[in-house]
Amino acid sequence: MLTKNKIETGLKKLLPDSNILSSIEECYVYSQDGTNTGKSKKLPDIVVFPESVEEIQKIMKFANKHSVPVTCRGAGTNLIGACLPNFGGIVMNFSKMNRILDINKTDMTAVVQPGVVVGELQKKVEEIGLFFPPDPSNLRVSTIGGAIAQSAGGPKTFKYGTTKDYILGLKIVLPDGSLMITGGQTIKNATGYPLTQLFIGSEGTLGIVVEATLKLIPKPEASRVMMAYFDSIEEATLSVNNIIDSKIFPSTIDFMDNNSINTVEKFYPAGLMTDKTAALIIEIDGTYESIQQDGEKLKEVLKESNAVNITLSNTKDEYDRIWTARRSSFAATAKLRPDVVTDDVIVPRSKLSQLIKGINNICAKYNLETCIVGHVGDGNVHPQIALNLDDLTEYKNYLLAKEEIYRLTINLGGTLSAEHGIGAEKKKYIPMAVDSNALDYMKKIKHLFDPKNILNPGKIF
Ligand SMILES: Cc1cc2nc3c(=O)[nH]c(=O)nc-3n(C[C@H](O)[C@H](O)[C@H](O)COP(=O)(O)OP(=O)(O)OC[C@H]3O[C@@H](n4cnc5c(N)ncnc54)[C@H](O)[C@@H]3O)c2cc1C
Repeated sequence: MLTKNKIETGLKKLLPDSNILSSIEECYVYSQDGTNTGKSKKLPDIVVFPESVEEIQKIMKFANKHSVPVTCRGAGTNLIGACLPNFGGIVMNFSKMNRILDINKTDMTAVVQPGVVVGELQKKVEEIGLFFPPDPSNLRVSTIGGAIAQSAGGPKTFKYGTTKDYILGLKIVLPDGSLMITGGQTIKNATGYPLTQLFIGSEGTLGIVVEATLKLIPKPEASRVMMAYFDSIEEATLSVNNIIDSKIFPSTIDFMDNNSINTVEKFYPAGLMTDKTAALIIEIDGTYESIQQDGEKLKEVLKESNAVNITLSNTKDEYDRIWTARRSSFAATAKLRPDVVTDDVIVPRSKLSQLIKGINNICAKYNLETCIVGHVGDGNVHPQIALNLDDLTEYKNYLLAKEEIYRLTINLGGTLSAEHGIGAEKKKYIPMAVDSNALDYMKKIKHLFDPKNILNPGKIF
């Protein structure tokens, strides 16, 4: 590989100096992401901020010619080391490609650059009555490029699906610098292999998203959120199925266990019931009339499922209070110990209580403090473990617990990631969850697109 100086000299012929960082201090900042456990083995040699597709193509032609690794980076909030530049080289940041290029109200589409912040897009389309549902729970900072690369989901997946359900077409720069256009602007597209879907969730390993055409839907007229408490995990998870059986279709069915309720109350008091084993947060949306009706029906179903203290938000303040409590859970858990790590496992809904109780047992066995939250409507659970990563015993215990949690998940018919991805952090475990032939074909696909393995190397496999 080229030396840092040679990479810098080469890139300075392609980009203005103001769009290149190379000092050790600056590169250090781009050597980390939202993952606490994964530190990059190397600093990037150079960080670049391209402003056009053509610049990206030129950078990739240069990188490919000289076999320089390139790692894409949105806001760096992923939790699995997906943008750690473990092999050095170039980090490519898209904060200067953050424009919404078009919003078409009639066709209900938007065309965006990769650095657009998800929350900004949501705000803009909502102003004209449209809706982009994917919400990686940190939408004030995370980018569309990152959401596409991770196929981010979030609380509203139960009703609306994940990012992959909202991408109609992509412009991609491939590792050799050539441009590929996939999909189009239409809601349906059965013209050849669905290559767009191949890039979504590929964690920046196959190509660089330089533009995306998004599907939008009508914004529901109104939404309200309900909170209900339970004395057992079984009752809470059973009530998820009872809600679904009753033909109500909430946008969200989220979960907090007793530890997460107590931890939120400790640091961000919200008036939660700390003596209850679990709580569900259920959002319903639709017309004003339909959510009134659904709200009443939901209360009945929850009562029959032994829920107590059922409250339905009547005002924006009440709505925000419930959601702030749920969203504060990660930050509150982080205050318990020097570090926090969060995981992302998923099982068929019928196995939820076994998974949640199993995770609690495993963490107790290894003396780890855990707060469990999740998008239980999807069967998706996020154990948030508070620990001191510098304490060797605790770190070893965490690794043992993590592997046991994965084994349990897989034995229950689930898999290793629902929405955060594999990245560098979970690649060791992927053979536990993916058929060996399927894994071989994944590697062949990677080789086909990126024979020199320069794009985000060392991720997924
Ligand atoms: C507190 C917290 C809560 C979260 N909750 C959720 C949740 O509920 N649901 C959920 O799905 N996720 C959640 N996440 C994780 C989520 O996947 C990411 O935070 C987010 O989608 C990543 O966006 P980003 O812009 O930060 O991407 P980054 O972290 O910068 O990058 C993520 C991946 O995308 C690649 N990438 C970035 N831009 C491009 C591009 N233009 N072309 C190709 N590849 C690119 C990178 O190489 C990397 O592999 C959470 C994270 C945090 C910190």
